[in-house]
Amino acid sequence: MPTVRLSDDQRSFAEAVRAFCDDHCSTLAQRDALTEGGTLANSPQLMAMIAEFGWFGVSLPEEYGGGGAGMVEECIFLEETARGLAPVLAYSTGLTAAQTYLRHGREDQKNTIVRNLAAGKIEAIALSEPGAGSDLGGVRIKAVKSGNDYVITGQKTWTSAAHVAENILVLTRTESTGKKHQGLTLLVVPARSAGLEIRGIATMEAPTVNDLFFTDVRVPESAVVGVVGQAWRHLMRGLSVERLIIAATSLGASQRALADAIAFLKEREAFGQKIKDFQALRHRVADLATEIEACRSFVYDIAEGIDAGYEDDLAVHASMAKLKCTQVAKNTALEAMQMMGGYGYSREYGIEEQVRKALAPPIYGGTNEIQREIISKSLLDN
Ligand SMILES: Cc1cc2nc3c(=O)[nH]c(=O)nc-3n(C[C@H](O)[C@H](O)[C@H](O)COP(=O)(O)OP(=O)(O)OC[C@H]3O[C@@H](n4cnc5c(N)ncnc54)[C@H](O)[C@@H]3O)c2cc1C
Repeated sequence: MPTVRLSDDQRSFAEAVRAFCDDHCSTLAQRDALTEGGTLANSPQLMAMIAEFGWFGVSLPEEYGGGGAGMVEECIFLEETARGLAPVLAYSTGLTAAQTYLRHGREDQKNTIVRNLAAGKIEAIALSEPGAGSDLGGVRIKAVKSGNDYVITGQKTWTSAAHVAENILVLTRTESTGKKHQGLTLLVVPARSAGLEIRGIATMEAPTVNDLFFTDVRVPESAVVGVVGQAWRHLMRGLSVERLIIAATSLGASQRALADAIAFLKEREAFGQKIKDFQALRHRVADLATEIEACRSFVYDIAEGIDAGYEDDLAVHASMAKLKCTQVAKNTALEAMQMMGGYGYSREYGIEEQVRKALAPPIYGGTNEIQREIISKSLLDN
């Protein structure tokens, strides 16, 4: 259930999103219908319905078409849609990209991106390359000035939802001299640009990540987001929100896995009794529920801190929340599968889908090893 400190309006919002998800995607048959049998990571139909309610971009400024609320409301939305298994994950990618546009972009960029998100359209962000993942300073894709344009050549990889996006925020190298974190520039590139090939990467989930091949892709100077050569500095700000987005989504995923396991434990019988009465399982449920409640307090503490204006002070806490909540989500999904026995492994009960979904968040958005680096550095190297 939502945290006790939510206001009446926030609680009503949580209940509305929860009821919507229960109505539209609680069963496997409903999710299959929305995702063409589980082959779409995002349902255009569901995204259009949510956009109609005005729930996308709830934390983004009203002047650009967002909802004008705060991070608490955004976390409620992310938590409830993840708990409801709503196939709308690409929204989180766009929300992450939007943070950079809002902080450093031009008015027209903010207007375009936020309005797109609020309308249920998808925006992507391409930082990683084959030779630069955790070590992002190793980015090699080149953007060279040519008259009033930039010409981009090179490769990006793992770009979520690029194949269905309107635009991609691309981290490029505009200068090769100086330190590796210098000379990086962010450019907004329309996903259907001439010279840009988007090729899906086969994974254990429905198609969502892509390789991007840029061959002389031309964008105007006005595509620069922020200041030329300052992308590293731009990306290092606002990380609290980006990490919190993943934490809140993982919190919702954990709750769903535990709720599904509890429902099963109450039904299934073995040795002449409900399996919920085996202490070995009862204690695991208690442990998981306790971990999830700790995650909830953590997520909403940070969300409230951001809403109160302390975002820049919360980056390390947000790293901790990303680390903890993604670990708990992965562990909860695996434990739920184990407690459901063979049924947990079947597609019908939905847990195998949740296990697959829980494996990627510890890797993306800065791996959990990198989060530990950030946390330990803040404690040990000051
Ligand atoms: C489903 C999914 C979606 C993604 N979406 C996007 C996206 O939309 N946009 C985007 O730009 N990227 C995206 N990524 C890429 C993701 O951000 C990278 O995979 C991640 O940053 C790790 O980079 P890498 O894969 O190159 O691994 P590497 O950086 O090569 O790391 C390999 C291993 O070494 C560890 N490691 C590396 N450096 C250190 C260190 N200093 N200390 C300790 N351990 C270390 C890592 O933690 C990891 O376990 C996505 C990835 C996945 C799986």
